[in-house]
Amino acid sequence: MLVYSTMSRTKEEFEPLKGRIVKMFVCGPTVYDYPHIGHAKTYVAMDVVARYLHFKGYSVFYVQNITDIDDKIINRAKEQGISAEELAERFLRIYYEDMERLNIKSVSLFARATQHVDEIIEQIEDLIAKGYAYESNGSVYFDVSKFGDFGNLSGQRKEELVAGARVEVDENKRSPEDFALWKKMKEDEPFWDSPWGRGRPGWHIEDTAISINYLGQQYDMHGGGIDLIFPHHEAEIAIAESITGKKPFVRYWLHTGFLLVNGEKMAKSLGNFLTIREILKSYDPMALRFFLLYAHYRSPIDFSYDLLNEATEAYDRLDNSFRKALEAQDTEEREEKELRETLESCRKKFFDAMDDDFNTREAIAALFPLAKAINQSVLTDDRAVTELKEFIGEISGILGLFEHRGEVSVKPEIIDGVLEIRRILREEKRYDLADMIRGKLGECGIEIEDRGKETKWRISQRSTDQ
Ligand SMILES: [Zn+2]
Repeated sequence: MLVYSTMSRTKEEFEPLKGRIVKMFVCGPTVYDYPHIGHAKTYVAMDVVARYLHFKGYSVFYVQNITDIDDKIINRAKEQGISAEELAERFLRIYYEDMERLNIKSVSLFARATQHVDEIIEQIEDLIAKGYAYESNGSVYFDVSKFGDFGNLSGQRKEELVAGARVEVDENKRSPEDFALWKKMKEDEPFWDSPWGRGRPGWHIEDTAISINYLGQQYDMHGGGIDLIFPHHEAEIAIAESITGKKPFVRYWLHTGFLLVNGEKMAKSLGNFLTIREILKSYDPMALRFFLLYAHYRSPIDFSYDLLNEATEAYDRLDNSFRKALEAQDTEEREEKELRETLESCRKKFFDAMDDDFNTREAIAALFPLAKAINQSVLTDDRAVTELKEFIGEISGILGLFEHRGEVSVKPEIIDGVLEIRRILREEKRYDLADMIRGKLGECGIEIEDRGKETKWRISQRSTDQ
């Protein structure tokens, strides 16, 4: 299997650091607003990467960080007259709900920045001790001049990067490209105590504190939107490798292409800012997921409702054919040569494409001739139909599409018991574990919704619409 890494700018043979275990990290959202369709593109793509690795027999541990303290959160909370914590909590719930609707199921652990401030402070102390960071007027900065490899991921020289990037003006920095690890508290802002006084973490070090904590000093895969390469991922590498002295911090860097809306970059000021919620008011979440996957993850996507309408039709066509195959019963033993041949060639094309840097575009394209063959078939070939059902099961698991699950039956007492444990965890502010329970229940088709101290649950729509 080949995987493209932004660092080497080539497709490389995939080989995890340790046996059959894949450790994977993807930059999560800053929870201050509704997730938009650009988020959907990245997280659906990375979900399929994790699902495919799982299908190939790897044990995948996939961590996403949640930025729940940040300038944007603080400013938005002030506008709305609520606390930053309250705002972050609200949009984190919304994020989980939207991801669940898009059938994103592969994240093993969501880790919040505010739950890892101790680890962040430890890393900063370590960087200062090793001479890579300096304290200045209550804030701490990473000294970029001390890290020679800065710029390797984006492939540009440091000077070019600084000239082109929006650099925060800050008189406390020694040099404009230095970045904040710890920000001194401003008035009316949330704060944590630290050896440098009251303040809060910078953005980049959140990720390294969380990833090193859960995945170790070196791990296999790091994903995120292409816009995060500079300065965010360069900064992560600089921090991690300065602390550990081990290179490379990450084996494969995966970046998803831009999402444009009607040919333009999405921006609130242009009025083309599309949230996932807005789209799902009138579209099936699976059609949106299909639309996003019918492109290679590194390719840009130009979103328009016309294209989404086309994708919806194409998805329904495939889905109906696969449903016909799955519902076929008591097939005879009359050989259908064409169906067998089409299935074989489709299967080969599908897996060849997925093995070639997770090329979902080509993989999905291979399914159309199969759907056509199913439609033209009377499904009398017992062996072909069995293999067909098996193949549809496999691609459903990999793509997170075409799922026709039976009715979910549950014992309410069990769910209530699990939710009671989750309530205690939340009281003890062990949100990571509480969120993990949410995820696991979601996998079983149980959706939960927190309303203040109470939690409601229901069997999710998708599981029952057989
Ligand atoms: Zn990040």
